[in-house]
Amino acid sequence: MEELEKLQKWLDESRSAVFFGGAGVSTESGIPDFRSVDGLYNQSYRYPPETIISRSFFARDPEEFYRFYREKMLWLDAEPNAAHRKLAELERAGRLAAVVTQNIDGLHQKAGSRVVLELHGSVHRNYCMKCHKSFDAAYVKNAPGIPRCDVCGGVVKPDVVLYEESLDDKTLREAVRRIEAADLLVVGGTSLAVYPAAGLIQYYRGNRLVLINRTPTPYDSQADLILTENIGALMGKLRA
Ligand SMILES: [Zn+2]
Repeated sequence: MEELEKLQKWLDESRSAVFFGGAGVSTESGIPDFRSVDGLYNQSYRYPPETIISRSFFARDPEEFYRFYREKMLWLDAEPNAAHRKLAELERAGRLAAVVTQNIDGLHQKAGSRVVLELHGSVHRNYCMKCHKSFDAAYVKNAPGIPRCDVCGGVVKPDVVLYEESLDDKTLREAVRRIEAADLLVVGGTSLAVYPAAGLIQYYRGNRLVLINRTPTPYDSQADLILTENIGALMGKLRA
């Protein structure tokens, strides 16, 4: 496949590539995109995901928030797939400078990637809203109802960016810096519709913008290379 060869060549020549990924990167690890599960809230939730996963809803009804969160957003048994593993290999080989991700599942780190910029936070970091004590994801998963701090009784909140909340400034700035310095930008598993994905790729200055997505994105006309395949299957064919 001609496109795959081209991507391979560009990766071979790269020294500071950045991978920008979305929910599609984790679907092959069995993690569905909670935004796009059809009829999800019709079945067992009275509100759409965007409402439940918002700051004001968390404050108003943390119990219902956690019911949704545990069922649809906490996938602690998921394993990295070929895409995660290949990106970790590329980092070790000195070709990839950073992974910028919209995912909160920690699978890039589990696969061995070290520079991972998690725009929307991580389910693996949780903290007490009163005394700021940290808790792991298992603590949140196993708590009955609303997880509470074992020291002060405060509500424990995941370090996940909810709707109505802003992204972490430091993470965002680092993502911009890495993308500006990138000699290759590979975007995968995202329709580029979720903020701030679209804004971020505008910082790329090179002429090797690669889009890997099964469906067209609003940025296809700006891409230098487009591959329409499942990202895990595709990345599995690449050499590091
Ligand atoms: Zn506490």
